[in-house]
Order: sequence, then structure tokens, then C-alpha cells
Amino acid sequence: MVTHSKELALDRYEFEHFVEGARRLEDPLHSLEAQFVAFVGGRLGFRAGEMIHFQEEWVNWRQRRIEIPYHEPCEKGNGSGCCGYCSQQARQEAEYSELSLPEARLEVLQGRLSELPHVPGDVRRQLQTVHIVSIDSELSKEALDRQVTAVLEATDAVDGERFRSALDEVAERHREETRKTVEEVEAQAWTAKTENAEREVPFDWCPRAEIVIERFCDVYDEWPKSMSALTRRVNRSLELADVLEVGDTTPHGLRATAASRLAAMGVSAPVLQAYFGWAQISTAQAYISSSPDRTQSQLQHLG
Ligand SMILES: [Zn+2]
Repeated sequence: MVTHSKELALDRYEFEHFVEGARRLEDPLHSLEAQFVAFVGGRLGFRAGEMIHFQEEWVNWRQRRIEIPYHEPCEKGNGSGCCGYCSQQARQEAEYSELSLPEARLEVLQGRLSELPHVPGDVRRQLQTVHIVSIDSELSKEALDRQVTAVLEATDAVDGERFRSALDEVAERHREETRKTVEEVEAQAWTAKTENAEREVPFDWCPRAEIVIERFCDVYDEWPKSMSALTRRVNRSLELADVLEVGDTTPHGLRATAASRLAAMGVSAPVLQAYFGWAQISTAQAYISSSPDRTQSQLQHLG
């Protein structure tokens, strides 16, 4: 949720302290990793999944940007399997892919009506109305299913019965076809969250990010650790920072930090959307409307 992660966004002052904390990590390599996370998360706005699958190959040094792909094969687990983060995502996606019969019915009615041998004329008309209501509003799936059931029950008994059994047959087939196993999803890991997430992120607007990325890539050709190491680097930086404590931000809060910063700099909604790879422009607009007023943000450029 946007509101939730916005609360974990660090303002400019807090971010400076966070970077200071990252510099204070005792082990020089841990400190480098923490600074990489600070800037790639807190200024370039990477998702945690994007940070841990980062590869130097993504960096276009000449154009000064990082090109985040839609898919990057993950072999970061023990043996040749994917990492813990990817298998957790895979379990979740497999679970979500499991449709209930009402959900499958609705999807068939919305997209596979032509596969039904016989649709009574009045049912077709009424379902179109239900469909329009469903795409125009935020009706719950339960409410939609109740409407669909009502339409089906109102039709002529013989026609209605034939139609219902044909619908359920196609719906069962649809459930089979959309069901994904954990293994199937894992084989695709890592995959960016949405197609919009595949994007180009320029980094030369922030010289400190530029320097940290260069130093990181001098040592590593990919993020060398797990997701839990990433969280540990964030928490340790918070512990060592002067005005912050653990819980003030998270890897996802760093992404919100970057979004708030760019919104305050006056970046427009379409540019923000492309930069962060959001599916909806409303997410960008929410950051813009909650950013400080123009006078304050223009003064901030001076600091
Ligand atoms: Zn992975």
C-alpha cells in the first residue's frame, strides 16, 4: 500500500543520516553493500527484488542508466535453484493462481464466452450488463457471482440448465489451465513484478549514486547476498545512524524515499510512473500531491 510505505519514506535530512550510518558499517564490504542499497533503493527507487537480482550487465555505463529486465534467471539458491525470495514469491503466485469456481465462471463469462456452445439471448444481454458494471466499478467477486447466479436462475428452465452445465464445464477447464505449480513459477524466476517494471533508470542525476554504483561494480558483478542480508544492511545502517532507529525504514521504504524525493524535485507524474515502473499513474499522483509545497521544494534544491 502506498500510504503504508510512504510512512517509511525518509526525508532528505533523515536520508543523509541513513547514508552516514551505511558508511559506518565496520566491515568495508558490508559498508559498500549498505551504501549501494541506500542509493539504489533510496534514490533510484529499486524494488527489493530488483536489488537482490541486480547484475552489472544491467548497467549501461555509456548512457549512465540501469536497464532493469523483465526476466533474469535466478540461480542464487543452494545448488542451482532460485533464491529464497524467489521461491517464496513462487509459492504465493501459485496460491493466487488457484481460482474458485465462481472466479473461474466470471473469467469465462468475461473472456471465453465464445467457447460455450449455446448462450440464450436474454442471458447474453444481461451478462453484458453485469460485465459493464464489473469493469466500471469495484464490485467484489462475491457480489458479481451473486449477480451472475441471479441472471442464470432467471432464464428459462431448460435453456438455463443447459447453459449452466456448459458454463461450469468450461470454467473447470479454465481453472485447470490457469493453475500454476510452484515448480512452474520457480522456473520463471526471477521475473519483474509487472511488465511496466521493465524500465531504464538513469542515475547520472545523482552523482553520489553514480559513484557508489561504480565502486560496487568494481568489486561485484551482481548483488552477492540474499534478501535477508539486504534487510540486515538496512537495519544496521539505521542502528549506526544518529537520528534514526531500526523500523524507521525498510527496503520498500527506501523505494518510497526515492519517490518522495523525485516528487519534491518537481518530476511530473508520467516521468515518475516510468521511472518507478508503476502500473497506475495514480500512484505517481499520490506522491506528487503529498510532497511539500512548491516554495519549500524549490528552496530544498538550494541545500
Ligand atoms: Zn531469486
